[in-house]
Amino acid sequence: MSLDATTLSLPQAYIEQMKQMLPKDGDAFLLSYKDPRTFGLRANPTKWITHADARLNAEQLFHLRPVPWCEEGYYYDEASRPGKHPYHAAGFYYIQEPSAMSAVALLDPQPGEFILDLAAAPGGKSTHIAGRMRGEGVLIANEIHPQRAKILAENIERMGIGNTIVTQSDPHALASKFPHAFDRIMLDAPCSGEGMFRKDEDAIREWSPEHVAMCAARQWDIIQAAVAMLKPGGTIAYSTCTFNRQENEEIIDHWLRHFDQFKLLRMERIWPHQAEGEGHFVAVLQWQADHSASTEASNTNMRSRKQGRKSSGSRVSDPQAAYSQFEAWKREYLPGLHLPQGIPLLFGEELYWLPQGNVSAIHALQGGETLRGLRVPRAGLHLAHLRKNRIEPAHALALYCRSAKEAAQSISFAATDSAAEAYLRGEALPLEGDNAQLKGWTLVSIDGLPIGFGKASGGQLKNHYPKGLRTTG
Ligand code: SAM
Repeated sequence: MSLDATTLSLPQAYIEQMKQMLPKDGDAFLLSYKDPRTFGLRANPTKWITHADARLNAEQLFHLRPVPWCEEGYYYDEASRPGKHPYHAAGFYYIQEPSAMSAVALLDPQPGEFILDLAAAPGGKSTHIAGRMRGEGVLIANEIHPQRAKILAENIERMGIGNTIVTQSDPHALASKFPHAFDRIMLDAPCSGEGMFRKDEDAIREWSPEHVAMCAARQWDIIQAAVAMLKPGGTIAYSTCTFNRQENEEIIDHWLRHFDQFKLLRMERIWPHQAEGEGHFVAVLQWQADHSASTEASNTNMRSRKQGRKSSGSRVSDPQAAYSQFEAWKREYLPGLHLPQGIPLLFGEELYWLPQGNVSAIHALQGGETLRGLRVPRAGLHLAHLRKNRIEPAHALALYCRSAKEAAQSISFAATDSAAEAYLRGEALPLEGDNAQLKGWTLVSIDGLPIGFGKASGGQLKNHYPKGLRTTG
């Protein structure tokens, strides 16, 4: 077969670029565009480990096979459509292209750290990082575009993550708030997307050598903001889903020349003609120099500012009062719920739990004060809506529950039960047998996985599954 622009439906300049870059196996690489796409999902460890029956069920239903470079990753059969199954709505897994799973595996986030995902939407890397953190420490997941930040917040919520703040900020504006604050940073940079060509025709249409150069310039700009937010000694993973050297190796060369405190720890590529994946580039860099004196100085500064805020603080009393109201609700309806270390925050009628995690996060966040002036679509775990002196639990709280045991009242359906589908469509459900006695807030589960709330009264369960998430038909 001739490997030209017409037979491959790819730009000729791109074909030339790849043949030049891969003199030995350029043809094998280009032919991989004729192969079918690969499909992957990544298990949510906090739910996957504790729900063995649902896990076995998922393994069989979706014909899961392990992804070699990511312990939580699996290939699935396209026809089995796990994205449409109720387990997806329950945050049991995240649909993610398999080679994209390599970035967080190489970043190696640890529980208890203060971590930033700087270009985070729709949330593949953030939800992976949060899973590895096991709920300990704090993750800031940032996305510059408002609509994409909203989707990111929804995905964080679906995965039942409690220790993540979603911000919507330009990287430099964020850097002015968090100077040298993070233990680790994920920078999954916006790129020319050559690894997306098999699934996204827009990426092919947008591609040109000029577009590649523009992407490289933008990547360099974002890298500078990332460096300004990393703690001395900290680690950054830089990744792209593109193949050209300008946005990958050449950017890393430039980085190492410009910031000589960095050492390159790893640089890996996944190629679609060599592995089962669409392709990814990841470089892991570590700040080598010891700058502890200047870090201590800025921490001291933050401590004194924090004390000033506390003494003048009228803003603190309202969230505390709202939280006391929530605590009373929690004692009645979710007595088994455990929240991570944090503080309550109130935005109008919305009560959030802002995770504080570790010492550096506490300094950097200053009780939430640092977030002022930033757009924050999700200030941690959404606990409740305050409605004229009564509490309505947030949907996020149901997904944060690990099992029905945390609730005083619960009802569980099998995934195959028509009642499960009816619940996800937003219908009210009749309560039969023992369930007819239920009264008040009730946690709803599917195959034991909490998925939402309902309110029981008079033998009926009023549906509180959010309108925007309901299935149709
Ligand atoms: N990490 C995400 C994931 O795994 O789901 C994918 C991130 S995507 C490759 C890159 C993101 O960078 C996009 O969401 C895009 O909106 C965002 N972006 C675009 N321009 C940006 C800029 N100048 N600074 C920061 N982020 C930008």
